[in-house]
Amino acid sequence: MGWFPIVSYVPTEFEDCQHPKCPLRERRNKIVRGEGHPHPDVLFVGEGPGVQENEEGRPFVGNSGFLLNQLLVAVSRSDEVREYQQRSPDLAAVRNKLYEHERIYLTNAILCGNGHDKPKRQSLACCQPRLLQEVYSADPRIIVAMGAHAASALLGQEVKITEARGKVFPLTVKGVLRDSISYSVLCTYHPSMLLRSKDQASIVGGVWSQMLNDLASAFYLVDAYRHALTGEPLPTRGK
Ligand code: SF4
Repeated sequence: MGWFPIVSYVPTEFEDCQHPKCPLRERRNKIVRGEGHPHPDVLFVGEGPGVQENEEGRPFVGNSGFLLNQLLVAVSRSDEVREYQQRSPDLAAVRNKLYEHERIYLTNAILCGNGHDKPKRQSLACCQPRLLQEVYSADPRIIVAMGAHAASALLGQEVKITEARGKVFPLTVKGVLRDSISYSVLCTYHPSMLLRSKDQASIVGGVWSQMLNDLASAFYLVDAYRHALTGEPLPTRGK
């Protein structure tokens, strides 16, 4: 794998967003811009920044991000990523390896928040044009919506994640300069679900394996696409 820059596809007009109808403009420390591989295979959409993200201005750097790393390493095709995770406890360093080897991009349904409130419908609506522009610019092979807010913001309708989990939905994003592009959105839980559960033992086991299955499905669709297009062998994942 060669060197590549970690990029953000957040449109420039949102980089210091003062949206007059979004109350979160006054509650953030830092805007948490999406980031990842410049040509992502899988674009993950979470709900909104948590406490740690609001401090650092980077997505998925708190407890949920740690769990997301664990899930992604578990379905990775790369021995190097697994070995690296065993050697390095540093979340950001493992994340950078995942960006490189799994060609992923991470963003959220809303870019601002202090981690103390759930995203509100008004803020989700204000931030949705940015989310769709970001998707369009990143142009991934598949999108994974993590949690009900992410799925609802992407699909423009109320989504119950317990019903939508594991399913794929179509999304067409209108282009400004180019034609519209059609995407597939695979829905799964947000990693924070693993932290919230009261019945930790049984629910964590179920949610964890369901999320692993969903992530493995998303990467399998990308692998199959690449195999059909270029003849690249299907990789073995999650050894
Ligand atoms: S959440 Fe989105 S719309 Fe609201 S202030 Fe932040 S960038 Fe702007």
